[in-house]
Amino acid sequence: MKHFPLSSADQLTAALAPCISRPLLLWFEQHKRPLPWRQGYSPYHVWISEIMLQQTQMERGVQYFLRWMKALPSIAAVAAADEERILCLWEGLGYYSRARNLHKAAKQIMAEHGGVFPSDVKAIRALPGIGEYTAAAIASIAFEQDIPCIDANVERVLARLFDIDSIVKQEPAASSIRSLSQLLLPRGKARAYNQAMMELGALICTKKPRCTLCPLATLCQSKHLGIADQRPVLPQKTPVRLVDAVTGVLLCDKRVFIQKRLENDVWGGLWEFPGGKIEQGESPEQAIAREFMEETGFAVRVKQKITVIRHNYTSYRITLHCFALELLPANPKAQGVQAGTACPKPPVLTAASAWLWELPHKLPHYGQPAAHRKLADMLFGQQGQAALPLLSAPQPEPAQGQ
Ligand code: SF4
Repeated sequence: MKHFPLSSADQLTAALAPCISRPLLLWFEQHKRPLPWRQGYSPYHVWISEIMLQQTQMERGVQYFLRWMKALPSIAAVAAADEERILCLWEGLGYYSRARNLHKAAKQIMAEHGGVFPSDVKAIRALPGIGEYTAAAIASIAFEQDIPCIDANVERVLARLFDIDSIVKQEPAASSIRSLSQLLLPRGKARAYNQAMMELGALICTKKPRCTLCPLATLCQSKHLGIADQRPVLPQKTPVRLVDAVTGVLLCDKRVFIQKRLENDVWGGLWEFPGGKIEQGESPEQAIAREFMEETGFAVRVKQKITVIRHNYTSYRITLHCFALELLPANPKAQGVQAGTACPKPPVLTAASAWLWELPHKLPHYGQPAAHRKLADMLFGQQGQAALPLLSAPQPEPAQGQ
């Protein structure tokens, strides 16, 4: 990287700091987006917004934030809500451990801090789901503490301003960015300054920088060198994985079988139709029969192929083959079952923590992975009221269990 012999550059950077912070703060005052958590900066609002905005586009984040606040207006309300409600409000944002950690953190705040969000950065950091960046963001934005925030936007702006020419998330660039962030932070103005840096990265110093609109253009080294589009230096991208998977819908007496994924799983706590990856040499039909047997102990066969759903996640792209299923006459683990005449005895779960035979119109009350929600909406309508004829086989009342 370009040498900031930081020891000698410290003075230069400190002298330069007001030249950066002044125009930046002025620009922020004029151009900041009117985001809902910027009205009053309540610690609860700042916390929820910071967790929601991880891996989420701003527009989507605002929609989810408003819906969340309407449903759960306080930390006490989050702590008192059951997990189904939390996961339902989070459904579609992905990375569900964030929602489960929010829930745990709210309970911790009630138990250890009397329901008041802690202001001490160590206490904030001790809450479940809060890492170094989020703790710094809450401490500075909600409590106006002089702590710099470093997210991808800030890394990009600083890498361009100071022409840092090595990978920003690795040493030595990472240390330089930390030092620069400390030196540039105007004391007593961390709330506005941190947001201004991140806002500049989000609106102006974007992947394709709009330097003509930038309040820092006259100071920017990479712009001056004509290489802003080559900064920041990023690690090589890992290719997106393609995943072929299956899932199956099994109905009994107009109730559908769903299971709750294990807590430590990628969609932990969400409810799904059983299924999994297609193994090498398997057809989708073979895969769904195998998966159902492995995950529930139910022997099933394909009644009809319903659809193929394609869904993109951050690091992989799934092609999900979806089937309507029926029980086979011989169901060794679900003894006493006769296909088409009775519902199986309780499943033998191996990939889930709970199971239900649920009425389709109640599915919207359960958090589901995005591809499974698409399938449920396709089959039963968004309100769960319009079951397709292919799935409705009249059968007796099933046993319930978790
Ligand atoms: S001048 Fe251009 S590259 Fe430099 S900080 Fe501003 S927008 Fe980014």
